[in-house]
Amino acid sequence: MSKFVFTTGGVLSSLGKGITAASVGALLESRGYTVTIKKYDPYLNVDPGTMSPFQHGEVFVTEDGAETDLDLGHYERYLSTNTSKVSNITAGKIYKSVLDKERNGDYLGGTVQVIPHITDEIKENILKDSEKYDITIIEIGGTVGDIESLPFLEAIRQFKFDIDEENVCYIHLTLVPYIKSAGELKTKPTQHSVKTLREIGIQPDVLVCRSEYPISDDMKKKIALFCNVSKDSVISCLDAKTIYEVPLMMREEGIAALVLKKLSMDERQSDVSKWEEIVHRIKKPEGEVTIALVGKYVDLKDAYISINEALIHGGIANKVKVNVKRIDAEKLENGASPDTLFEDVDGILVPGGFGERGIEGKIKAINFARLKDIPCFGVCLGLQCIVIEFARNVLKLGDAHSVEFDPKTKNPVIDYMKEQKTITQMGGTMRLGSYECTLDEDSTAYRAYGEKVIHERHRHRLEFNNDYIDVMVNNGLSLIGVNEQRDLAEMFELKSNRWHLGCQFHPEFKSKPFFPHPLFKSFIEAAYNYHKDNSDDEVNDL
Ligand code: GLN
Repeated sequence: MSKFVFTTGGVLSSLGKGITAASVGALLESRGYTVTIKKYDPYLNVDPGTMSPFQHGEVFVTEDGAETDLDLGHYERYLSTNTSKVSNITAGKIYKSVLDKERNGDYLGGTVQVIPHITDEIKENILKDSEKYDITIIEIGGTVGDIESLPFLEAIRQFKFDIDEENVCYIHLTLVPYIKSAGELKTKPTQHSVKTLREIGIQPDVLVCRSEYPISDDMKKKIALFCNVSKDSVISCLDAKTIYEVPLMMREEGIAALVLKKLSMDERQSDVSKWEEIVHRIKKPEGEVTIALVGKYVDLKDAYISINEALIHGGIANKVKVNVKRIDAEKLENGASPDTLFEDVDGILVPGGFGERGIEGKIKAINFARLKDIPCFGVCLGLQCIVIEFARNVLKLGDAHSVEFDPKTKNPVIDYMKEQKTITQMGGTMRLGSYECTLDEDSTAYRAYGEKVIHERHRHRLEFNNDYIDVMVNNGLSLIGVNEQRDLAEMFELKSNRWHLGCQFHPEFKSKPFFPHPLFKSFIEAAYNYHKDNSDDEVNDL
């Protein structure tokens, strides 16, 4: 049977509960334990698939096609195990399932209540698939004290009695703010947050305290006294230079040993050499590149978090630092000069997206990259824009478009798949999850992957329209990846350019710091070569 680690958060949101849970998982894995992480979100959406990235950041897609919270991306990047449909549960999903059962008459005339029906449903979900792992970490979204997270906290309180105290560990993440005017760190918010948690009936075993400055021993003693834990159970967690340093910092504080002791498990030797290696590469790069990320959700960093991380991983593979310059596609649309915007840029990436806003700007960016031979990477909607740009400007099909944006275009180079045309329900109905793709051996993609058949994750409704395949290919836009089962175009490449490639899937979801995704590795390599070529020119000019 699995043991369980519950992580809750207090004081305020955005303290990095996801990274903390993932780091604890990584440290337990470094001792040879098998670990999985699940996230419970207290909001009423059934899943985050229909939520705007402006609201909740990126939607992360699992192998089995679940649209999930972005924290699952962190879990997969930090751990060797993949997440799945059971890994992200919202209050909406729990309530929906309970209400469906009620309509089915499953409760045999009983009154259906938060306790026990909702809490039982949550506990049942917590147990799902957990038997495959030594340790299951459960992250409870939201902040202690929120009304909507109460059923989840109640469920994890009860859980300890269902599976025995020694199989459960509670970690609580809080903030120890630095108050400038007093010149001091303050423990009161932590005291209050733990007090609220204890009122619900949960006594934390470990406190992880986020702070800008190191927490002294005296301060740890004070926190311990007020929060009813031992001093050693108070872990200080400072802001890190890179998120990949967090497991190493938490290791210094001995968090895994504390958790294992609470769970009555052997401490075991840990091997964190792979973490040390990537942190070294991030901190001591041998060069740098700047990649323009041309999108519409650029003000919110979390909206493109997996793309951002995959670019960093590409940098780790090439031992270079990757600066990501986020460019609002609408600026290009409204007349900003690409020469100025892309002046200091070594590569242009157009990520996935939905809706018309900014589309023309993305197409402009791709046009600029193609004409100037700047490495250019189109992901999902980005690939669709590569196709539209090529159709309009090379094939001279002036009105070429995706029917998502112009349903009446005479040249629908991107169109809905047949089954998508009849869909009325929005949630969970796209082409989702992992699909096979066969690569052309004479392609940048094949050289990057080193294998002919690959599997990548999808999240989209529209596809390349095969009516245009011959004219595209005959004019130089090579089809280099196909899904043979459904006869779908997956990847295109403009071989006359140094690196101009688009994929209909989302490679960023499978990139890990230890296994940088082949396409991101290859793209960053091309961008670095471009950078070196250009700086050579400058040297010659002098
Ligand atoms: N909006 C496009 C589609 O649905 C692209 C989606 C995406 O980039 N994820 O096909």
